[in-house]
Amino acid sequence: THDQRWEMRVRALSPATRIVHLSDRTGAHAADRIRVDFVANASHELRTPLASILGFIETLEDAADDPETRSRFLKVMDTEARRMQRLIDDLMSLSRIEAEKYRAPDHSVDLAQLIGQVKDELAALAPDRAADIALEIETVPPVRGDQVQLSQLLHNIIGNAMKYGRPGHPVTVGLRRAGTAMVRLSVRDEGEGIAPEHLPRLTERFYRVDSSRSRAAGGTGLGLAIVKHIVERHRGRLDIASTVGDGTTVTILLPTAPVSGPIPGPVSS
Ligand code: ADP
Repeated sequence: THDQRWEMRVRALSPATRIVHLSDRTGAHAADRIRVDFVANASHELRTPLASILGFIETLEDAADDPETRSRFLKVMDTEARRMQRLIDDLMSLSRIEAEKYRAPDHSVDLAQLIGQVKDELAALAPDRAADIALEIETVPPVRGDQVQLSQLLHNIIGNAMKYGRPGHPVTVGLRRAGTAMVRLSVRDEGEGIAPEHLPRLTERFYRVDSSRSRAAGGTGLGLAIVKHIVERHRGRLDIASTVGDGTTVTILLPTAPVSGPIPGPVSS
């Protein structure tokens, strides 16, 4: 087909005989394409706030005498610099998680406790929305995980539910068992929801349904890509269901920690 890419290698066995190797490079080509797009997108996302900061520095040199203008410009520069910082933090998280993807995390994590902690952190960041976060937590076994990454996952999905939900409407975080070896984490909001055609693309890097809304809310467009990678590293499953006008539910299944791990032996001194 049009999108198919083949690589041909020819080896001479003798002057009269040739072996032709044809290999399908379609997958590798698609991976190259994604990498090239990613670098281009990341550069663009970083260049926009940087251009704004450089522009304001130049203007500031002319308006140095007026304290009010100065402080207004400095505020914009501060906002743009923080945007760059968030983006760089997210890019670094992504590459760290990707680098570790073949090493399954092996700590026991108490998700209920972690949810409580993340709820408090988010409530401190957005005090006006704190009362909207509702917990429906059942007793579940610990999951096999990486505490730092699971905290980031919770920040990203509960944070999204708060960003894209409706003020005064609940953001419900649920936790319960799923079968014998999994735990089901869910985050539900009553925001405006996501049209079905966007759902399959939400975990792509820099994919946003509404760019200006995401930017205004301080989004980097990398939150769900990070969530997807964390879920994959934990050998879990991610599902995003949404109804326009009703809201969105993000569900994550995570394997529980083995019931009996190796018993640590006596420490020799
Ligand atoms: P962002 O930093 O832009 O929030 P994400 O990767 O976290 O990036 O999410 C990608 C896009 O998915 C967002 O820009 C937004 O359009 C959409 N989205 C994510 N979560 C929700 C939600 N709970 N309700 C509605 N839209 C959402």
